[in-house]
Amino acid sequence: MTEARRQADERAQGYRERALKLYPWICGRCAREFSHRNLRELTVHHRDHNHENNPPDGSNWELLCLYCHDNEHQRQLEATGAASGGSRGGPASTHSPFSGLRDLMGKKPPAG
Ligand SMILES: [Zn+2]
Ligand SMILES: [Zn+2]
Repeated sequence: MTEARRQADERAQGYRERALKLYPWICGRCAREFSHRNLRELTVHHRDHNHENNPPDGSNWELLCLYCHDNEHQRQLEATGAASGGSRGGPASTHSPFSGLRDLMGKKPPAG
């Protein structure tokens, strides 16, 4: 694992931990409640979609369940897709459809 990769990893861990301490474990959309048992289904969403933007007061974070988080990013993709005149299902232009998924699954892509 590279140094940059390790740091990105720690940062990702860091903001999730902090967001979970800061906010009640409730989905901000559907108000579903979470406990330690299903906490992995609760994700930290970045309101401005910038994962590098992690203010200490948590103002850029929102706790969302997997489904609502998915919807949130889907809306964003559709908005950007419509703006460029692309049809749904066509090849994504600049947006990676997996950046949100990776967030959801808590997995990192294979190196390379
Ligand atoms: Zn939800
Ligand atoms: Zn998100």
